[in-house]
Amino acid sequence: MLQLEDVRVSFGPTTALDGVTLELGAAERLAVLGPSGSGKSTLLRAIAGLEPLAAGRVAWAGQDLTNVPVHQRGFGLMFQDYALFPHRDVAGNVAFGLETHAMPVARRKVRVDEVLALVGLRGYGARRIDQLSGGEQQRVALARALAPTPRLLMLDEPLGALDRGLRTRLLDELAGLFAQLGLPIIYVTHDQEEALALGERVAVLNSGRLEAVLPARELWLKPPNEFVARFLGMNNVLPLATNNERLATPWGALELGTAPADSAKVLIRPDALTLSAQGPLSGVVAAVTFRGESTTILVRPNGAADGPLLEAHLKTADSTPPVVGQTVTLSVDPSGVVFLS
Ligand code: ADP
Repeated sequence: MLQLEDVRVSFGPTTALDGVTLELGAAERLAVLGPSGSGKSTLLRAIAGLEPLAAGRVAWAGQDLTNVPVHQRGFGLMFQDYALFPHRDVAGNVAFGLETHAMPVARRKVRVDEVLALVGLRGYGARRIDQLSGGEQQRVALARALAPTPRLLMLDEPLGALDRGLRTRLLDELAGLFAQLGLPIIYVTHDQEEALALGERVAVLNSGRLEAVLPARELWLKPPNEFVARFLGMNNVLPLATNNERLATPWGALELGTAPADSAKVLIRPDALTLSAQGPLSGVVAAVTFRGESTTILVRPNGAADGPLLEAHLKTADSTPPVVGQTVTLSVDPSGVVFLS
């Protein structure tokens, strides 16, 4: 449906988007993940028509949108700060997009009630915005974006301003709602958990360039390069010598199998490491952090007090975690050894 071809956006000397090419399926949910300043908001604004392109094009079903103004694109956009109108009640906020579409008043009321029910705010129409909780305001903003029945919904860090408990709950709710909508959705976030939960595919942005566009599970299990691996919190990245099937790591030698020709590095996934008497890796525990479902341990090579740290995530149910200063041996699940380009 949506096609981006080699899209480029500049602000003076800053290139905010640099050659972004992307396609979105008819009811596909895409998460755009990247650090602050990587170009995520600019990408949404460029698609919406709020930011002129320096090069490339945005198209919908093959139609170039360059000369289609924002309000005629039929795209719903929800901002991080919600941008609600404080002087209007909930219904007035949700109806905003319908007024600009010149919908008759009676029909407008019906539609407002429909979308309020959809986001779980049935009966909230007459409430004042400043009497709502953060989570409720978020839903009003979502209802407002959905009211004109957009053909594409885009959300910019919609959970960013909420506290953790509420975010986790809304994340599950949003996942259910998105699946129900049957719309193409682009969801922007810097939070990997949100991206993996809400995106069928995840696009990773880094300084205006796409590092990867992959199904969420594949991205998580096999990050394609070092940037993506580290951004997902996997830091055991080691250089790879050419034709080296047996990798000498600071923690011991690891059998690798044949590396693909284009790989320069190898990732040892932290969740692929388990305590085991056989090894092949060993070292001294430098830190232990209990995280509920797992315990993170950082392991230095034996006899290297300032050596690098190998990170392992040990499942709480599997074993009693070691203590700082203890010597441990670790085995590696071969599926958790990932070649990086
Ligand atoms: P993100 O949403 O990932 O945090 P943005 O899209 O907001 O990133 O910004 C991408 C880059 O473009 C940043 O370097 C930012 O400073 C710059 N930028 C964004 N908007 C503007 C603007 N209106 N004027 C100048 N620079 C901008």
